[in-house]
Amino acid sequence: MTVHRTRVVSVEKCCEKVIRLELERPEGCVWKTGQFARIALPEFVVDGEPVWRCYSIGSAGGSETLVFYIALVKEGQLSPRLHALSVGDTVLLDDEMNGMLLEERLEAGGRDLWLFATGTGVASFLAVTQDETIMSKYEHVVLVHGVSHWVETEYVTKFAVPHDNLSIVVCVTRDPGSLIQMRIPEALTSGKLEETTGLTIDPTVSRAMICGNPAMAKAVRETLKTRGMVTPRGGKPGQLLVENFWL
Ligand SMILES: Cc1cc2nc3c(=O)[nH]c(=O)nc-3n(C[C@H](O)[C@H](O)[C@H](O)COP(=O)(O)OP(=O)(O)OC[C@H]3O[C@@H](n4cnc5c(N)ncnc54)[C@H](O)[C@@H]3O)c2cc1C
Repeated sequence: MTVHRTRVVSVEKCCEKVIRLELERPEGCVWKTGQFARIALPEFVVDGEPVWRCYSIGSAGGSETLVFYIALVKEGQLSPRLHALSVGDTVLLDDEMNGMLLEERLEAGGRDLWLFATGTGVASFLAVTQDETIMSKYEHVVLVHGVSHWVETEYVTKFAVPHDNLSIVVCVTRDPGSLIQMRIPEALTSGKLEETTGLTIDPTVSRAMICGNPAMAKAVRETLKTRGMVTPRGGKPGQLLVENFWL
């Protein structure tokens, strides 16, 4: 692990509670699409140590900069401080990248790639839309974004790279007007998601990644399990990958 001091290239408010933070890529810092990095601030130290948090990288492997989408957790330790950053500020970046959401871990031969996210859990999937190698493998890529209000999803259509095979399905629970006005787990169990997309979820053709709120991740994982989709384990291939943002 090497800790780099890097700089803020840009910081943009996506909505009241989410920023898009772009950092310089330090020399030698590499990552794969879907991984997360640990970041901290040099001046925010507790008991002599910087306070580190994990953030999914919203730019594809090989990109010029590291992009993050960061939700404001009001009483949180680090996220309010990240929301106060300006261009040119220094950020600490641990260059040991990790993560479950590596497309190469999915069983080969999938036709449809389902990407399920709540809130800023969409970051890794925005990176997927920038990755031609992944996008060109699938006939359909369906990005399902669960939010409470429309404003919390507008940045997704702005920063997702359009492709003929990409569909973005938004599940907005507290504002009217979305095709699916229910949480992602209910959209799945009710059949509404498959009805809306015209695609059937089936382990022979479907592959899925889930990221964000642990309650959503657990519920979607359990539903997909009943359809025969499992995470890779003990050398056995799987059709499903999961990343939780907290316990
Ligand atoms: C692998 C991984 C990847 C992550 N990627 C991202 C990311 O791309 N973007 C992002 O915003 N966060 C992400 N997180 C969450 C992030 O690491 C922090 O937990 C979050 O920013 C809160 O940190 P804090 O110090 O402000 O709050 P803390 O004082 O540490 O409080 C933590 C509490 O905040 C809540 N919380 C954490 N994350 C969120 C969130 N995104 N939305 C709402 N409530 C939350 C939970 O209740 C959690 O218990 C990720 C976490 C993990 C483990």
